[in-house]
Amino acid sequence: MKSQQVRQQFLDFFASKKHAIVPSSPMVLKNDPTLMFTNAGMVPFKEYFLGQKKATNKRVADSQKCLRVSGKHNDLEEVGKDTYHHTMFEMLGNWSFGDYFKKDAIAWAWELLTDVYKIDKDCLYVTVFEGAEEDGLAYDTDAYNFWKQHISEDRIINGNKKDNFWEMGAQGPCGPCSEIHVDIRSAEEKAKISGKSLVNKDHPQVVEIWNLVFMEYNRKADGSLEKLAAQHVDTGMGFERLCMVLQNVQSNYDTDVFTPLIREIEAITNNKYNVNEETDIAIRVIADHVRAVAFAIADGQLPSNNGAGYVIRRILRRAIRYGFTFLNKKEPFIYKLVNTLSKQMGTYFPELKAQSQLITNVIKEEEHSFLRTLEQGLILLDGIIKNTNGTEVSGKKAFELYDTYGFPIDLTSLILSEKGMTLNEAEFNTELEKQKNRSRAAATVETDDWVVLMNDHEEEFVGYDILETNVKITRYRKVSSKKDGDLYQLVFNLTPFYPEGGGQVGDKGYLEASNGNVIYIVDTKKENNLIIHFAKSLPKDPSQTFKAVVDRQQRYRTACNHSATHLLHQALREVLGTHVEQKGSAVHSKNLRFDFSHYAKLTADELQAVEDFVNARIDSKIPLKEYRNIPMETALEKGAMALFGEKYGDTVRAIQFGNSVELCGGTHVQNTGDIWYFKITSESAIAAGIRRIEAITNDAVKEYFSENNKAFTEIKNLLKNPKNPKKAILDLQEENNTLKKQVERLLKDKAKNLKGSLKNEIQNINGVHFLTKRIDLDQNTIKDLVFELGNEVGNLFVLIGTEANGKAMLTCYISKNLVETKKLDAGKVVRELGKLIHGGGGGQPFYATAGGRNPDGIDFALSEAKRYIS
Ligand code: ATP
Ligand code: MG
Repeated sequence: MKSQQVRQQFLDFFASKKHAIVPSSPMVLKNDPTLMFTNAGMVPFKEYFLGQKKATNKRVADSQKCLRVSGKHNDLEEVGKDTYHHTMFEMLGNWSFGDYFKKDAIAWAWELLTDVYKIDKDCLYVTVFEGAEEDGLAYDTDAYNFWKQHISEDRIINGNKKDNFWEMGAQGPCGPCSEIHVDIRSAEEKAKISGKSLVNKDHPQVVEIWNLVFMEYNRKADGSLEKLAAQHVDTGMGFERLCMVLQNVQSNYDTDVFTPLIREIEAITNNKYNVNEETDIAIRVIADHVRAVAFAIADGQLPSNNGAGYVIRRILRRAIRYGFTFLNKKEPFIYKLVNTLSKQMGTYFPELKAQSQLITNVIKEEEHSFLRTLEQGLILLDGIIKNTNGTEVSGKKAFELYDTYGFPIDLTSLILSEKGMTLNEAEFNTELEKQKNRSRAAATVETDDWVVLMNDHEEEFVGYDILETNVKITRYRKVSSKKDGDLYQLVFNLTPFYPEGGGQVGDKGYLEASNGNVIYIVDTKKENNLIIHFAKSLPKDPSQTFKAVVDRQQRYRTACNHSATHLLHQALREVLGTHVEQKGSAVHSKNLRFDFSHYAKLTADELQAVEDFVNARIDSKIPLKEYRNIPMETALEKGAMALFGEKYGDTVRAIQFGNSVELCGGTHVQNTGDIWYFKITSESAIAAGIRRIEAITNDAVKEYFSENNKAFTEIKNLLKNPKNPKKAILDLQEENNTLKKQVERLLKDKAKNLKGSLKNEIQNINGVHFLTKRIDLDQNTIKDLVFELGNEVGNLFVLIGTEANGKAMLTCYISKNLVETKKLDAGKVVRELGKLIHGGGGGQPFYATAGGRNPDGIDFALSEAKRYIS
């Protein structure tokens, strides 16, 4: 059965059990402060489990893109080495939000696997949670009893807390789970060792394929458990592992999910899969990682130097390094796989197809630059090896190479072992640990339990319409971190504060108590559907009613920038073409930033056209049309563009200014005229095929114009207020050029005269015409001078010292025959004497120069020259 069918049958089966089938949510999470990537199928539904939002469908099924490379789930180092863990994989899942529970979840999982997919019952084992005394949790008898209706009891295995009690994080929803394992070994092997004894023992052919989680508790900050109000089911089945079972192969990489990629890697790199373990691992790593990176870029996450972008960069670099070392690829090649990948998966995941060009460009550029890093690192490592006495290389040095230059440590070890050397690994690990502790200490956040003052099922956002209202605090908690100190997170029954999201910053403002006391709100963010207000302190009586007031000015300026961002997007598509797609945006009160796909630097004319386009729409005073809670299809009909990598709900909000229609939750001006004026302040590249525009509006433009005006007035004053300042500057420039030419002529004349007098100062020492002299002229003149002297005087050795602008310079000229007969080297002379002027330099044996910071050393250097010829 082809993988496409495997996926479809899963969805069809749960559709037949009255589940709503939904598309995969993005794999990269944009507005979730607690998580960078979707690492399990339940992530998009977190807020339902936390009880912070009501599910519109009580039964849902999907195939979710997951990435397990950071945080609690990190499989990165296993990937490629084994045959059943990936970085990016699809998790097939069915959910019950307060609807069915253990009985149906178990019965349907069994029916699907054995009736629909026809997996042999004798290959399957299931696990049941054995209980945990420390948590006061008993054996999961319910699960056991339901299982035994389907499977013989000797195939039911008890599982401990580590394997069979699922927790979302240190705090939050959790519950016992039942896993389904499959044994795909040959009959002979099964006869030798029972599958039962291999369950959960990391055997590559006795693997877990499906985990059924029964969510029924909430883990509190003090570690205790409380029963959840409603019980949920959360299941996750590894799609690639399921394909392995159904296609009768022994490795995920032998399924049609991976074989096209592997064939392509074989062709490009001239290696064969299944010949040698080392190359096999490399091929698997590359086949796996290109998927993770391609899907991340399609979701809008480019490789970068920090956060989620850095994680993606590291995955790609791991693939490049394996190609470099084990497949001997010193040129970019991974980008060539994107085409195969998008052909194969682009039907179910259209974002891959739509963005394959961008993905290709970005990967290619990253490969180029990391291969350069590797080359440089090899040179540096060579230097380290040369400076090492004995055969053990310092771990500190290797750490520096790893930390500062990004040179992979296992490559260092490999190269050292090839040269019969070793790395002081203990020292390296100590350095690594030190660094980890530093960042851990900075990142540790302690979160107290919520103190619930009022039960409130949904915190309503009223900030589109009003900036001030009376509120009650429904819950609060303290969070402490090294970075921000102690902060209080407050949740209200309703709020006018906009939480950071969609690129727009969160609102600031204050809460005013009835006695006039004020608590400042320093930021607002959304977490699992709760709007959280950050305050430095807690009000004395948190249960009273407060007046919540948003900082109007900040909000207004931000709104100007946000509306201008939409107009900018429209302008770019109009001026440059419809290949322009938003790749990121940051809307602050001070300025706006917009990243978009486009292949070339914008010309001055294009920038002007973009600015004019936006300003024309500002001039036209177009009123805002806002559509709240409209169905997605209606928004699309109006011309809104859905962005890949965004999570949209059942209904959406659309913002329209004339022909600009966008799906957007942000805050906007009532009329484009409010923006006043739009000014681009910079345009740059941020990655291959991605440009960034920064711009300002309204007050910031006023300030910009007034600053420019001030500078202009100052310039006019300096020019003595000419009628035509431009002409005055051109005149000055021309005069400057004429003067420059005159000076050059004069210097040449001076040099000519000087040459005459220098000739007289030449001494004859042991048959060498020797001259040292201090001459404070510019370098070109000195160069001409020594070469002319050399043409006229044979057997010449000259050293000139120069001082200009507080810097010292040495110039050495030696006739070519002296270089040969006396083995003299001007380069060596300036290198050595250069130390006396605190500098260095070099050149050829007959002519070389050195620059330095110490003019006081010039005379000493000149006096030392004699020793080269005596
Ligand atoms: P394992 O012990 O094999 O790492 P897990 O306990 O981490 O699995 P869960 O978190 O329960 O797995 O995820 C549910 C299912 O997702 C698993 O049963 C498995 O089929 C699949 N899965 C988990 N991690 C990966 C991965 N890195 N690559 C591919 N599939 C995975
Ligand atoms: Mg795991």
